[in-house]
Amino acid sequence: MKTAGSPGRVFLVGAGPGDPELLTLRAVRLLERADVVVYDHLVSSAVLGFVSTSAERIYAGKRRNEHTMRQEQINALLVKLAQEGKQVVRLKGGDPFIFGRGGEELETLAAHGVAFEVVPGVTAASGVSSYAGIPLTHRDFAQSCIFVTGHLKNGTADLDWPSLVRPRQTVVIYMGLGGLPEICRQMVLHGAPPTLGIAVVQDGSIATQRVVTGTLNDMAERVAQAGLKSPCLTIIGEVVKLHATLEWFRPVTSRSVRDAAATAQRHHQADAISL
Ligand code: SAH
Repeated sequence: MKTAGSPGRVFLVGAGPGDPELLTLRAVRLLERADVVVYDHLVSSAVLGFVSTSAERIYAGKRRNEHTMRQEQINALLVKLAQEGKQVVRLKGGDPFIFGRGGEELETLAAHGVAFEVVPGVTAASGVSSYAGIPLTHRDFAQSCIFVTGHLKNGTADLDWPSLVRPRQTVVIYMGLGGLPEICRQMVLHGAPPTLGIAVVQDGSIATQRVVTGTLNDMAERVAQAGLKSPCLTIIGEVVKLHATLEWFRPVTSRSVRDAAATAQRHHQADAISL
């Protein structure tokens, strides 16, 4: 895609929650034509399958407690690649503007006069709830929906609890797995009914998807028993009861798991070569 002397550009692209079918057409076209793709750990291997074999792939990491590259290093890398005249895709899970630090990266690009564009993606709240059969709003149960991060600072989630326990509202919590017991406890302390429904969805929209449902009362125990692992999205509200009727996605067949593992291995090898 690079032509001699052409200015570089960064495309901040949302990769959706995992299923590659949820990519936008624009994301696919840009992945096919990019000179270099800088991607986060939440980007599924199936999505990376759209990257041209001649493109450079750079893993920027950022798993909890495993910050492969610090945010400032990623920002500096994007500036450098664009200044070299490259067409750069900065690929992030879900939507880059929702708990994705997309804004921070663009601020650095803007400060250095680097041209950029943004391609939205299906955010986890939307994609994962769809694949779990849990509508976020429903005329009988919820007229509003709020997205928050449950990432704990010093063991406490610094959340505006009164705004989370409003009736007829669905709460979607990103990054809330570690803090789940505390979140359930605080919701009840602030007046939510202990029997209020809650769902935790692991690996939404891909072959290993798992959905665990319960109540604020018993969810910490259920999730611990199920041994759920990150990434998990938490959905709290009356809408969770619809899962029993609306569940439609049948993720785990031995074949799909085998295929996913084989694809992941291929990408792993490809990454090792390009890094
Ligand atoms: N920008 C992303 C969110 C990044 S924060 C987006 O718009 O979706 C990372 C959190 O997103 C995870 O901790 C988890 O809560 C949620 N998440 C992303 N993909 C997910 C998936 N496939 N299944 C479950 N949760 C997911």
